[in-house]
Amino acid sequence: MSDTSKLQTPNSKLNLAERDKKVIWHPYTQMKNALPHIPIVRGEGVYIFDEDGKKYIDAVSSWWVNIHGHAHPYIAQKVAEQLNVLEHVIFAGFTHEPAVLLAERLLPVLPGKQEKVFYTDNGSTAVEVALKMCLQYWDNKGKPKTRILAFKNAYHGDTFGAMSVSGRSIFTDAFNSLLFDVDFIDLPDAENISDLISQISNLTSTACFIFEPLILGSGGMLMYEAKYLDELIAACRKAGILIIADEVMTGFGRTGTYFACEKLNHKPDIICLSKGLTGGTMPLGITTCTDEIFDAFLSEDKLKTLYHGHSFTANPIACVASLASLDILLQEETLANIKRIEAKHALFLEEIKAHARVKAVRQTGTIIAIEWETGNETSYLSNLRNLLYKFFLDKGIVLRPLGNIIYILPPYVISDTDLNYIYGAIKQALEEI
Ligand SMILES: *Cc1c(COP(=O)(O)O)cnc(C)c1O
Repeated sequence: MSDTSKLQTPNSKLNLAERDKKVIWHPYTQMKNALPHIPIVRGEGVYIFDEDGKKYIDAVSSWWVNIHGHAHPYIAQKVAEQLNVLEHVIFAGFTHEPAVLLAERLLPVLPGKQEKVFYTDNGSTAVEVALKMCLQYWDNKGKPKTRILAFKNAYHGDTFGAMSVSGRSIFTDAFNSLLFDVDFIDLPDAENISDLISQISNLTSTACFIFEPLILGSGGMLMYEAKYLDELIAACRKAGILIIADEVMTGFGRTGTYFACEKLNHKPDIICLSKGLTGGTMPLGITTCTDEIFDAFLSEDKLKTLYHGHSFTANPIACVASLASLDILLQEETLANIKRIEAKHALFLEEIKAHARVKAVRQTGTIIAIEWETGNETSYLSNLRNLLYKFFLDKGIVLRPLGNIIYILPPYVISDTDLNYIYGAIKQALEEI
């Protein structure tokens, strides 16, 4: 018999943060000197509440996933209904209404002519599938190509393939020797665009170009113009290179349009989606493609099959959450909110951009980034991030600076009052930190 005393309820003398410290290893966290993790007991709209009842504005949409606010009653109702009908079923050999309906409704609103949906369960795996689709596409066609083109400061996820096509950084440092070789290019601008185009025209063994359209998120909210991306895509097409748009962060209204690629004339062959897909309710990933890609896998030859799948592929509850989120996204009110945030952000940046502590400001749609002037003091720089993080938390605002870059990426339901409160706190930080 096992010792049932080990199954007893947790040590009631410890609070949740202390219990957490004993058993949990948190993501992107140096556990040696991490601040206690704040126990969140409830979410409502843009707010999350800790166990002492303190309220925080979730100004980063809980790592960019939440678009309609926390515990949205409509999404909650749809998820609850589905839980009583079918929670999950194997997706090879079987299918279900939520997965089919989500594909039917999503494909027509995606930019270009996306015709098939492949389900996974997060952004990194959506990227893995996109890369595999491209590499095997060329192999299946009998014209193997194995090189991949990407941006220097890109971020596409944390699994090995996704890490390989991401910029080399402290995130990848421990693994660099094991990552596959990728051709990295600078972000395009007026100066380097012709150079980049001529570089691309010389590529002969490149299977695909993967990019985050208009804005490199984790790389520091680095923004670049649609017209130069369009030129890069055109050059890739000429060189027979497939196009993967990683819209994991930019999808579902973030950049002011439903998808960032709507701002391009040349549309991608493949689109990766996750984060906002379920409204931030559950994990789900989607890789969509054109029939041109899909058809290259149709064969009597078993080896031409895409051998990829995850246990929770196309989870019905996640699909239902996505359908509910899509309903809300497509309401006029949501688009009006996106436009409202966009306009308010622009005014705020105008107001602070000349401040001595501001090195640069950037905006794409509902996202703004403010780069702090750090001078040459590296010690100040390494401290700054933690100082800023703590400063805003104390004020009841969740902002997670990327080094010296503060960004706001809010749920679309954020009120003008809350936006003004965040702007006010940033202005105060500019004076005090
Ligand atoms: C977050 C992100 C990913 C990875 O998604 P996960 O769900 O965290 O694995 C991939 N691409 C982009 C652009 C992202 O922002």
